[in-house]
Amino acid sequence: EKYSCGKPDCTVGCDCDRYIEVWNNVFTQFEGDGKGNYTTLDQKNIDTGMGLERLATAVQDVESIFDVDTIRAIREHVSKISGKDYKVKHEWDVSIRIITDHIRSATFMISDGIIPSNEGRGYVLRRLIRRACRHAKLLGINEEFLIPLAGSVIKSSKVGYPELEDKKSMIFNVLKEEESKFNKTIDTGLQKLNELCEKIERNNKDTVRGKDAFMLYDTYGFPLELTIEIVEEKGYKVDVDGFNEAMEVQRETARQARKETNYMGADATVYEKLDTSLKSTFVGYELLDNESKITALTSETDVVYELNEGEVGTIVVEDTPFYATMGGQKGDMGTISTENGKFEVTEAIKLPGDKTGHVGKMVSGKIKVGDYAKLKVDEINRNSTAKNHSATHLLQKALKLILGDHVEQAGSYVDGNRLRFDFNHYQAMTPEEISKVENIVNEQIVRGLNVITSEMSMQEAKETGATALFGEKYGETVRVVAMGDFSIELCGGTHVSNTNIISSFKIISETGIASGVRRIEALTSTGLMDYYKDLENTLNEAAKEAKTTTNDLVAKIASMNEEIKAVESENEKLKAKMASDSLGDALSDVIEVSGVKLLAKKLENIDMNELRNLSDSLKEQMGEGVVVLVSSMPDKANMVVTATDGAIDKGAHAGNMIKELASLIGGGGGGRPNMAQAGGKNPAGADDVISKAKEVLNNQIK
Ligand SMILES: [Zn+2]
Ligand SMILES: [Zn+2]
Repeated sequence: EKYSCGKPDCTVGCDCDRYIEVWNNVFTQFEGDGKGNYTTLDQKNIDTGMGLERLATAVQDVESIFDVDTIRAIREHVSKISGKDYKVKHEWDVSIRIITDHIRSATFMISDGIIPSNEGRGYVLRRLIRRACRHAKLLGINEEFLIPLAGSVIKSSKVGYPELEDKKSMIFNVLKEEESKFNKTIDTGLQKLNELCEKIERNNKDTVRGKDAFMLYDTYGFPLELTIEIVEEKGYKVDVDGFNEAMEVQRETARQARKETNYMGADATVYEKLDTSLKSTFVGYELLDNESKITALTSETDVVYELNEGEVGTIVVEDTPFYATMGGQKGDMGTISTENGKFEVTEAIKLPGDKTGHVGKMVSGKIKVGDYAKLKVDEINRNSTAKNHSATHLLQKALKLILGDHVEQAGSYVDGNRLRFDFNHYQAMTPEEISKVENIVNEQIVRGLNVITSEMSMQEAKETGATALFGEKYGETVRVVAMGDFSIELCGGTHVSNTNIISSFKIISETGIASGVRRIEALTSTGLMDYYKDLENTLNEAAKEAKTTTNDLVAKIASMNEEIKAVESENEKLKAKMASDSLGDALSDVIEVSGVKLLAKKLENIDMNELRNLSDSLKEQMGEGVVVLVSSMPDKANMVVTATDGAIDKGAHAGNMIKELASLIGGGGGGRPNMAQAGGKNPAGADDVISKAKEVLNNQIK
């Protein structure tokens, strides 16, 4: 109570620090595999983040964590940058404390590998940064301030948290990018918000509609809290319920979209109707086929008792060798057959409550609940998937070696055809870096490292130095995959027994997919062979088309380019010759109009460019005068009029002449006194142009 600011509405969430955030809870409900698939996590977990300093003040009743040494240094830095001293004005203190707290949290979050985004922890981070930016504006800070302050955070905390210093450049990069992104959108957003407030005032209302607040959130990245803060300063309110409704509508849409992409066999809600006591045991690390009892079946829309030929559905059994899509590895394919029917599994997926769903289609006969079935995993697909997955581990280690320890997995996907690996890194890889990484991976393949998987406690795993994903929830015992002395990772996926089985590795592309996140796509083994076969086919076709061999293709293309250049210049010369030939003895057609020479001539099939060249050369031959050239083509006509300086002195004006003449060929045009051109759709009028040119020129001469 003693920390209350005294406002009558002072309550949880008030900007004063009567209530400070001691625990902050982030709910992570969905797990995404990076390609648009989300599965509900087995245990919906709550990350409880409880800052050490916050806990200390709460327990010891220190007046404010902002007086703790490490934090005071940052607070003082904020005061220095803004020129606003602490404990002078309540509003200033609020902003100073918010900036101090948020820049600290943001720095730590980024060092943990979190990148600003619009969901989950990434969104929490984005909100912290934006709120800090907003309060910096309130304090009158107009230059970039996040990086210097983050520097203070790192300096004051690096003794206890040495990783901050290691990740300094990444932290600065993320902050810099997010700050400039925010500055760009905030101006547009603020303008929108001002318009909204004006509208409220005009209509004698006092509340910003929920859907408008959501629009600001969705389009301009204004966190709801920020909108509320700004609006309250003007004495208005925000319809928070309406905002939540709009948010829920969008979530539902997203959920629907996920449903469509995730469950090919059935609507996700079907699986929730299954008996919750049913579990499946995975026996697929050791076995690729086994026999087991069918415990449940679903069609696309419902829980069913049997599936018949042609029907699409999902099978659940007691023990399965099928790996279910998880941790970025696509689930197994294969077949499930009983005495009476055969089912083709297109993908095994995780179902709620420790069940594996075998999604696919009945290819023949009928299968019933209670039947004993033979389950057979597609071995070729399993093996190619294993090669790609194992290669991903080698790749991750190679990236750390070449790019640095800041490289962390941000997502991955492997199936039987290819592998994809997303990681934190701040610029595009150079061709040299890519080639070094490829070489390292291929060296480890050639070394023939044994791949050993073992189960151990999390503590034991940590002692081995295994790479684990930050924030990932692991159970009591974890599975550790070691490849010789080169790589050791926590991983539940299926792997090759020795790296030489991978046989070959090649990076096909390296691109940026979000700020600070790069994506590598790569191939191994037969997938890579197929890729090269395709390339070879294309090359062969190209060689055939160029009437040469693949070996001589490059030289052939170079000589073809030379040839094309020669032919083109030859063509230009011929066109010029044809044009001048078609003129014949043009100069004999020159007539005199009130003392000005006029050459008006009709030609066939000469394009505008050539027409201009011709009229230039005729003008030269004539000395002084006016040239009118009109060229008729099958469905159009072009016209050029030029006048020399001498003719212009006497009153001739090419632009005005063409204005009068162009209508005869069904067009319009104009231009300068010395040069004008026009085009039209009526070639039949070309003769009229010639006969009228004399009259038009005559009228111009003074
Ligand atoms: Zn208060
Ligand atoms: Zn793995």
